[in-house]
Amino acid sequence: MRIGFIGLGNMGAPMAANLAAAGHEVVGFDTVAGAPEGVARAASAAEAVAGADVVITMLPNGAILRAVAAEVIPAMAKGAVLVDCSTVEVDAAREVAALAEAAGLGWLDAPVSGGVGGAAGGTLTFMVGGAEDAFATVTPLFDIMGQKAVLCGPAGNGQAAKICNNMILGVTMIATCEAFAMADKLGLSRQSMFDVVSTSSGYSWTMNAYCPAPGVGPQSPADNDYQPGFAAELMLKDLGLAQAAAEAADADTPMGAAALALYRQFVENEDGRGRDFSAMLPRFEERGRG
Ligand code: NAD
Repeated sequence: MRIGFIGLGNMGAPMAANLAAAGHEVVGFDTVAGAPEGVARAASAAEAVAGADVVITMLPNGAILRAVAAEVIPAMAKGAVLVDCSTVEVDAAREVAALAEAAGLGWLDAPVSGGVGGAAGGTLTFMVGGAEDAFATVTPLFDIMGQKAVLCGPAGNGQAAKICNNMILGVTMIATCEAFAMADKLGLSRQSMFDVVSTSSGYSWTMNAYCPAPGVGPQSPADNDYQPGFAAELMLKDLGLAQAAAEAADADTPMGAAALALYRQFVENEDGRGRDFSAMLPRFEERGRG
């Protein structure tokens, strides 16, 4: 296939490189970043998408997605599929989907889980919203970039799945970190905490696979001085998207709201910016109740 790829950042560059390495013709565009090996660099987004069967965007946010979509939709060939893999507002995904469909294009919102390691290793999970025929067209590409793609329903449902997942992740990380910090103060060793909780009803991905305590459990950013991994500011972004969606849908999400407030404080007023989202543990350690 001929693929246009817009947004060659931390995630987009390795995803585009994997598609090229698998034998697809990939033409990329980024306002700042250069193209990775195997990917041709176009002079504009419109040039990158001309004649493409599938166009993939991997951009920072919904405002940028809207701006890029306004440029690329008129430049795409009829019948081609626009796939946005960025994490953006559900509403932004649905709006751009409507524009794409009105222009005779297919649409998928396909945000990812798995981070830069998953992007490099081709092991991402795609949560997909859109039509079945577009999903069938793009599935061979999802199979190269990832290990799993789940069609979750119509346009916007991929983003809905992503923010629900990440709301659980943010809340669970905070719960795991505050429990570790409390265990410290109760005189419990971290290894004991891990051994018990990872095999008891408090277990979770944050405890078992991404343990926020250094030296305990599998290798995680905690063992690398909380270098991200998944940066606290990206978690802040996703929790903000979750609360915006909750408000729009009149969903009661008190834990999600509390997690957003804590990550906002951590990133904006404490030393969270640039650290992994599991660095909530040293944050709790330093604090008492007052
Ligand atoms: P990034 O900032 O590294 O990459 C975004 C790229 O988009 C940059 O290279 C930037 O120059 C480019 N860009 C900005 N405006 C542009 C425009 N108008 N035209 C073309 N290119 C433009 O971000 P990232 O880490 O690659 O994340 C991309 C998306 O994936 C985000 O929505 C993020 O929330 C999501 N995501 C990231 C991770 C992660 O671990 N990094 C995990 C899951 C999802």
